[in-house]
Amino acid sequence: MQLTRRGFFKSVGAAFAATAAFEVAAASPALAVETSKEWKLVNTEEHTSICCYCAGGCGSLCSVRDGELVNLEGDPDHPINKGGLCPKGASMFQLRNIVDPETREVIKNPERVTKPMVRRPGGKDWEPITWEDAIKEIARKVKDTRDATFIENEGGMTVNWTPGIASLGGSQENSEEEYLILKMMRSLGVVAIDNQARV
Ligand code: SF4
Repeated sequence: MQLTRRGFFKSVGAAFAATAAFEVAAASPALAVETSKEWKLVNTEEHTSICCYCAGGCGSLCSVRDGELVNLEGDPDHPINKGGLCPKGASMFQLRNIVDPETREVIKNPERVTKPMVRRPGGKDWEPITWEDAIKEIARKVKDTRDATFIENEGGMTVNWTPGIASLGGSQENSEEEYLILKMMRSLGVVAIDNQARV
């Protein structure tokens, strides 16, 4: 597009007039009241958390008001993601709240699991179980499985291992926790050990 000197001054004049008009409008008390909204994070407490989705372990800031999560975003002070979250991590808010398909209102996710659940062998349904009972049952099964499958000697060689148990760690354990998990599994004779955070 060719711009003449005259055309240039006309464009600049028009832009200046539009800016001045906007400033006058913005200074109007009525408009200021109309456009002001309460800051969405007012009166919230900030809690830090870690993304649960992948081995990256990005940090997040959770804003909570009256015990309710109202916002979740990347933590700018976290050394891994420095405030950023991928689309999956940015959708973590939906683990707790969803949009009601009928009313389009934000509601608590009715499918959220808030306590340990167990599905018995042959069963179709999940049943709630207390943490205490869940840990006891898991410990019992680990011990029984280990005792039933433990191999002390193979071909005249001491091996002390079990092929009956495997261990897969999650992405949120830190190095020290992984060290302890490894120690515990090795002490049971488990050799099939992997971790989602191995990257
Ligand atoms: S935000 Fe994305 S990259 Fe970071 S831990 Fe979560 S899923 Fe992984």
